[in-house]
Amino acid sequence: MFNLEKTLKKYFGYEQFRPLQKDIINAALAQKDTFVLMPTGGGKSLCYQLPAIVQTGLTVVISPLISLMKDQVDTLRDLGVTAEFLNSTMTFEEMDDVRNRLVQNRVKILYVAPERLVLDSFLKFLGKLSIDLFAIDEAHCISEWGHDFRPEYRELVILREKFSHVPLMALTATATPVVQKDIVEILKMRQPEIFKASFNRANLFYRVLPKGDTYVHLTDYLRAHTKQSGIIYCQSRKTVDRLAQALNEDGFRALPYHAGLENSERAKNQEAFIRENVDIIVATIAFGMGIDKPNVRFVIHYDLPKNLESYYQETGRAGRDGLKSDCILFYSYGDKAKIEYFIREKNAREQKIALQKLHQLIDYCQSPICRRKVILEYFGEKYEEENCGMCDNCLRTDDDSKKFDGTIIAQKILSCVYRLNERFGMNYVIDVLRGSTSERIFHNGHQNLSTYGIGSNIPRKRWIAFAQELIRLGFLKIEGAPYPVMKLTPKSRNILFGDEKVMLTPYIEKRPKKSLAPTEYDDELFERLRQLRKRIADERNVPPYVIFHDRTLQEMAEKTPTTWDDLRLIFGMGESKLKQYGPRFLKEIIAFTQKTSSKF
Ligand code: ADP
Ligand code: ZN
Repeated sequence: MFNLEKTLKKYFGYEQFRPLQKDIINAALAQKDTFVLMPTGGGKSLCYQLPAIVQTGLTVVISPLISLMKDQVDTLRDLGVTAEFLNSTMTFEEMDDVRNRLVQNRVKILYVAPERLVLDSFLKFLGKLSIDLFAIDEAHCISEWGHDFRPEYRELVILREKFSHVPLMALTATATPVVQKDIVEILKMRQPEIFKASFNRANLFYRVLPKGDTYVHLTDYLRAHTKQSGIIYCQSRKTVDRLAQALNEDGFRALPYHAGLENSERAKNQEAFIRENVDIIVATIAFGMGIDKPNVRFVIHYDLPKNLESYYQETGRAGRDGLKSDCILFYSYGDKAKIEYFIREKNAREQKIALQKLHQLIDYCQSPICRRKVILEYFGEKYEEENCGMCDNCLRTDDDSKKFDGTIIAQKILSCVYRLNERFGMNYVIDVLRGSTSERIFHNGHQNLSTYGIGSNIPRKRWIAFAQELIRLGFLKIEGAPYPVMKLTPKSRNILFGDEKVMLTPYIEKRPKKSLAPTEYDDELFERLRQLRKRIADERNVPPYVIFHDRTLQEMAEKTPTTWDDLRLIFGMGESKLKQYGPRFLKEIIAFTQKTSSKF
């Protein structure tokens, strides 16, 4: 039998398999058909790459994303695995060259697009080779019920007819039961073993922030996270252009991406992001498909996403490398009202579905319970943990004993809503409470209200949290479209007249409990290693992640290995990487340690 752990360390530099990987690999090695359901970043590729390495024949990977094939092949070659691709971007000579190598059995993994695979001539050619496994990536493309149907995927059934002895592995990150059934039936899979991983992305931190001063909050965040890669999603092309420009004027390295740009400009901007020539991409949802960049450290939604499913998918592009990454959603009642307004233009049936989906999303935004729990339950998965430690609600919900008498705070908000004749939205009410000097307030003469400025001692963020809690408790409500306003409820009276007390949750945020990153690494050394990685990547004309993942650099910056043997122990340091890059990284680390020790 094969020593799978040893192969994992030798080629990939990893110590352990992720959940299910080993079972999947063993099933494939036992010639069974397998169905692999794992979230983005779950580690699906390894499930066919590792069997390919230990077996003697060829593994054929069918992938719809021609644009990704080159990066995938570069990554594998860098790990010391012989990989090739065949697609329409190649010259005749290049293809001939690959075919020769295949015939000589000098290739372990071959990537092809489905439309090429099903060509008669190509199938004949494959028939001459010794094939161990067909891996069908993005298998949901086969189903009309999936979100990305590709008719050419249906023809893959021919594999079962022409290669009845070769096992199939279908992989996807999105499969509802209907899609799953479609995949198994259409491919004629033989009693496939089905492996379904949890869709929990434990390294993603979920946070919802109220809109209002959104740009200021956004830039505060970006300033605290410089030199990190991230995506900012906006609803319209116009917002994308405006936001990208504003960020550039404020000194951030950001580029826009949306369907209104020329193809060439879109491709150029995407490439600049992947190669880390810029940090931020500001985009509509047109951006993301086929982004394999593992160190996207944040995904920010400047506007509401379409529904919870899209939100999960879009945020799923963060943190593929397993390191902590942030998912931030800016939410306002105004956004909700705007979307409702558009939905009302649709026909009755569509309206019903769209409204239901919108309300599930709004529940996510407004709910005081764990964000992770809400998301996973939406996908039918139970999340049993009491406190995930990685979402704003779990860090904020304190036990009841920490609640304080918030009657005066509540009276301030409610009386301000009353004085404003229940005709203004939350942001405006808070502006009046905090004594804002905005033109609109002066124009309306609201600087003369008795409640003007009575809440200037409490930051805006807290006022919003308090107002939201009062809404949840039924002391306030929000109504009206497309311009929602704050209104009193029958229960408000009790507070205003002092007949009832209200307990509020203090706005405190603890630090996340989990530390997913190597504990303490040296920032300066990390930065030097990052620059070295970028130089090597540019020399070789590949994205930086093909050389090393962030986690590998972080471990180097923490453990400062200065010998070959120490370096070998670092996460992600397979033998091929060690040989190719070990000397340059060791040199950099040694130079750094000498410089810092000579300071003393
Ligand atoms: P998916 O295709 O499921 O979205 P990938 O196959 O791209 O995910 O894997 C995501 C990342 O996780 C990759 O960078 C991969 O190298 C890494 N990875 C996979 N398996 C392991 C493992 N056992 N230990 C550590 N990292 C892993
Ligand atoms: Zn939580």
